[in-house]
Amino acid sequence: MNNNLKYFCYSQNSINTYKSCPIKFKYKYIDNINWKYDDFASEEYYQSLKLGREFHLLCERYFSNIPLGRIENEKFNKWMKRIKRIIPLVNEKEYISEYEVRYTLNGNEIQAKYDLVVIGKNTIDIWDWKTESKQIIYKNLEGRMQTMVYLVLAKEVIPKLLNIDVKTKDIRMNYYQPEFDEEPITITYSDEKHENYKKKINEYIDLIKRTRYEGSDGDVNIEKNEKHCSYCEFNKLCNS
Ligand code: SF4
Repeated sequence: MNNNLKYFCYSQNSINTYKSCPIKFKYKYIDNINWKYDDFASEEYYQSLKLGREFHLLCERYFSNIPLGRIENEKFNKWMKRIKRIIPLVNEKEYISEYEVRYTLNGNEIQAKYDLVVIGKNTIDIWDWKTESKQIIYKNLEGRMQTMVYLVLAKEVIPKLLNIDVKTKDIRMNYYQPEFDEEPITITYSDEKHENYKKKINEYIDLIKRTRYEGSDGDVNIEKNEKHCSYCEFNKLCNS
């Protein structure tokens, strides 16, 4: 195993990066290279990242009971109205924004950062805001690494941290895309899914650890995923 992975904390992002291309994982997490798209066409991509960050901040303030003041951006006004309708603040529930948790699964540390966790009477609702302009659909979300990591950690960590008793069936993951005035997409959970998701996460982490990166052992060859190159920020570095 590569030395850089000895104390590595896995996340849905890093596992997804490996899934999209193991070379990209090596650049980002073994070599620690940060590379930005540097062409004019990527301007829109960085604008949408900025918009996402600003909206997440607004939601964090709202659910932490910090006054939002006057919101100049018309889009954000519309989005916040929708968020308030979908998740009204009530006294019986607890709202925890930007909540980061860690868990050790089979000796591997994993982290998740939730946009919002709503604790009800013996229920946990995880919320994730999606600000991209392309509409998301349910079938893309059920098997998503984010869904798996977030639900596994919600079951294993949150009840212990908050000293509450919650059954697996009472934990839900909700994706909400305020751009589209539709109901959130809710993924329900079960003991069977929990075991299945843990197994899948373990399998990916095992593969990451067994991969032979430059200068390290491993029985899995590292290979380019050329299908992903045109979407990848390392394209110029890798292919020119
Ligand atoms: S450019 Fe292609 S091969 Fe290189 S890291 Fe990106 S996806 Fe992988």
